[in-house]
Amino acid sequence: MSGSRQPRAVVIGAGVFGSWTAEHLRRAGWRVLLVDRLGAANAQASSGGESRLTRANYGPDEIYTRMALRSLAEWKRLSDASALPLFHSHGVLFFFNELVEYARACIDVHERLALPLEVLDHAALAARWPQIDFSGIEVGLYEAAFGGLMARRAVQELVRGFVNRGGEYRLAFAVPGSTGHEVLLNGEQVSCDAVVYACGPWLGKVFPDILGERIFVTRQEVAFIAPPEGDSRFEPEALPGWADFNGGDMYYGLPNLEGRGFKIAHDAHGPAFDPDSGDRRMSEEGMTTLRAFVARRFPSLAARPFTEFRVCQYENSSNGDFLIDRHPTLEGAYLLGGGSGHGFKHGPEIGRAMAELVVNGTVPDTRFALAAKEAIHNRTVV
Ligand SMILES: Cc1cc2nc3c(=O)[nH]c(=O)nc-3n(C[C@H](O)[C@H](O)[C@H](O)COP(=O)(O)OP(=O)(O)OC[C@H]3O[C@@H](n4cnc5c(N)ncnc54)[C@H](O)[C@@H]3O)c2cc1C
Repeated sequence: MSGSRQPRAVVIGAGVFGSWTAEHLRRAGWRVLLVDRLGAANAQASSGGESRLTRANYGPDEIYTRMALRSLAEWKRLSDASALPLFHSHGVLFFFNELVEYARACIDVHERLALPLEVLDHAALAARWPQIDFSGIEVGLYEAAFGGLMARRAVQELVRGFVNRGGEYRLAFAVPGSTGHEVLLNGEQVSCDAVVYACGPWLGKVFPDILGERIFVTRQEVAFIAPPEGDSRFEPEALPGWADFNGGDMYYGLPNLEGRGFKIAHDAHGPAFDPDSGDRRMSEEGMTTLRAFVARRFPSLAARPFTEFRVCQYENSSNGDFLIDRHPTLEGAYLLGGGSGHGFKHGPEIGRAMAELVVNGTVPDTRFALAAKEAIHNRTVV
């Protein structure tokens, strides 16, 4: 960068991470080109789903509580400015068989940060949400201020606003250049001050030597179920987003947002998955597992039909911490990813952290460093 010349960045990947990075770089006064090979929040991207939970309960990982909180303010601003809602404030309920360490840590962090959190016992849970069978559940943690984000719509709206405010967006396939200040877009060389690679589950393919062994892409199945006709108990006014910790084998879901159905997923990491060629049809086994869970916890949905399925992927780092760092050898190139099944809600803060690294050299928390990413898949962040 020299004199008053406007610095230029290219951001590869218009998922939630890349789009927020592009927006923050634009806000910092940079000229920004955002690129995606298939489109913002496309069907194969991790950000391409219908909805995502946002919550501040993160057990002992206070850093994510703070990030979720700051990000929520950005999401709300974006939602308020959008013609259709991007955020539904139906609250989020976590429930546990007993007051496990994780739940205790959530309470501690909320107390320390003076954040609202309702702690409910079995009787209170059963009285408040009778559509859930809380058998075997002793503790619930309810965050009223959080809820659901309309994922695909939110990213596309963000990109639309970014372009309206002077950002540039292009559909192209990117290949890293021979230096960090060059990138090939559909074979054409583009020069700039910085290139951010926010390629989600493809990051390991773009940089196989560095990340091939450090980003573990897993197959994840999601289903939607039609609520009973004329029954409002599964609408966002009556049912929060929820996660049943289920003795460490978590299931989670969202209410019937915008009539798309009651969403449910098993949070266990699935088998290794190729985001280009992987089979995106729901498995029989997955359907059976979800049916059995629904019959137990949401008995009035037991016989209701599945309305939709999605197979997506988590791009897991070794422990679930994100990757926000410089490329180790290509000066001017940056690596952003490792969403690990919980990154969506943090998009605004992740984008801000990456933009600050690019613009000011401000290094984010060491948890997000490439050096902290191991070749062993051992999730600890939940
Ligand atoms: C089933 C499921 C449920 C989830 N639930 C939640 C939740 O409830 N709450 C939450 O916070 N998070 C959740 N997540 C996680 C969250 O969705 C991801 O962490 C987040 O979307 C990752 O975004 P990303 O921008 O890193 O990746 P992506 O959205 O995959 O974006 C990467 C983009 O890069 C583009 N790209 C890749 N390579 C190239 C190239 N060479 N040239 C040009 N473009 C390229 C791709 O086309 C893609 O659009 C969930 C994820 C899944 C799969």
